[in-house]
Amino acid sequence: MTARVLIVDDIPTNVRLLEARLTAEYYEVVTASSGPQALEICNNSDVDIVLLDVMMPDMDGFEVCRRLKSNPKTHHVPVLMITALDQPSDRVKGLEVGADDFLTKPVDDMQLMARVKSLVRLKSLTDELRARALTGQQIAIEDAMRVMDQITTTGGSILIIDTDARHAERIKGYLGDHRVDVLTQPADAVFQVTGAQYELALVSMALDDFDPLRVCSQIRTLEHTRTLPIILMADEGDKPRVVRALDLGVNDFISRPVERNELAARVRTQIRRQRYALELRQSVSNTMALAVTDDMTGLYNRRYFDRHLGVMLGKAQSQERDMAVMLLDIDHFKSVNDTHGHDIGDAVLKEFSLRLKRNIRGVDLACRFGGEEFVVLMPDTDFRQAEAVAERVREAVADRGFEVGTARPLTVTVSVGVTLQESLADTPETLIKRADVALYRAKREGRNRVVFDAA
Ligand code: GH3
Ligand code: MG
Ligand code: MG
Repeated sequence: MTARVLIVDDIPTNVRLLEARLTAEYYEVVTASSGPQALEICNNSDVDIVLLDVMMPDMDGFEVCRRLKSNPKTHHVPVLMITALDQPSDRVKGLEVGADDFLTKPVDDMQLMARVKSLVRLKSLTDELRARALTGQQIAIEDAMRVMDQITTTGGSILIIDTDARHAERIKGYLGDHRVDVLTQPADAVFQVTGAQYELALVSMALDDFDPLRVCSQIRTLEHTRTLPIILMADEGDKPRVVRALDLGVNDFISRPVERNELAARVRTQIRRQRYALELRQSVSNTMALAVTDDMTGLYNRRYFDRHLGVMLGKAQSQERDMAVMLLDIDHFKSVNDTHGHDIGDAVLKEFSLRLKRNIRGVDLACRFGGEEFVVLMPDTDFRQAEAVAERVREAVADRGFEVGTARPLTVTVSVGVTLQESLADTPETLIKRADVALYRAKREGRNRVVFDAA
């Protein structure tokens, strides 16, 4: 796998040394002798990995790294920091600014190649994921466009509000393409529109003893009908009030006597607009669902979990409520893939997710943490409850073989690490860390078991 490597060092000899080694391995090399120059190259061209010297005048490597990682355009580019000495404090500082890995000077050839190779792999993976995210957005837009094309403007559901029943009936006769109700009592307008799913209201301005603008403003005020299009049927002398009505959010007006074709055209426009708006709202909420769930398992994804954990932890801390976090990792999952193939592996992950979901409460938040790792956030849950849930999930997995298309049901087990929210000092990171340490112990002590942190 070839890649474009940027070498950043203020000392030309160092640059040339690294350059020679990397070009010998067929990497494409670009060089920079200062931080600002490196930033510019990363910003304006595709770089797959940055080899970054820490000690440089003016802007040191930490600052360069920090800037690369805080710029959305470059934050995914892996940074390999090169430190003069094996200084642990440099490493900590490097990690803080988001460095992906370290090398110590003098740079060992094998280490250099191994690190570069692994970071290049990581980069190609993140490139793929970024491309997929973009694709996801594009698909969502294409879907929405296709649906838009299919939207018709017939069969609309229309309400005519008019105290002149004969006039109303004539208008209704013009609207043969639609389902039309007539309301001759404007006082009932609010009641009438809340109960039904109208797509348009046609309101006469010649209402006996009733202010048509009042009807319109009532419709606009109700949550349920806020977006309902309204067309006024106005007489010549109504002009000043029509202007006010348009200010109130009335969508259009048509002059009386109402001309059939003009009416049809205005109605069509309003219904189309209404249906587009509805479609748009729905596709936005679909896209949002995609953004927060894991495709394969339908559980929440990591991104959603990370955010939500912060929120829930804050709540638990400020209200002094219990909260538990349970981290689960399927045992020897790699061998499922190795023995039965990736598709069977996927089927196991899906079945596992189902069993997990069935054995937690509705308020618990289950998420695919990554690969074959899952995490469950359990609000208002103390030690005893958490233990019971974790044990129940573990049993639900181990008890019965997984029927995933193999000759015999597969035996699957899971190891679980659990931790509880303990103090105001807890952060999402410390919670996950503790759960992870517990999980690690569960693995080491033989798998297929639940371990609490500390205890
Ligand atoms: P351990 O008991 O220590 O957890 O062993 P393990 O084999 O489960 O753990 P390891 O981390 O070595 O392997 C996890 C495997 O999970 C490797 C990876 O290929 C596989 N994996 C991760 N995500 C998916 C996926 O979406 N589908 C499939 N089929 N496999 C996956
Ligand atoms: Mg694992
Ligand atoms: Mg595992």
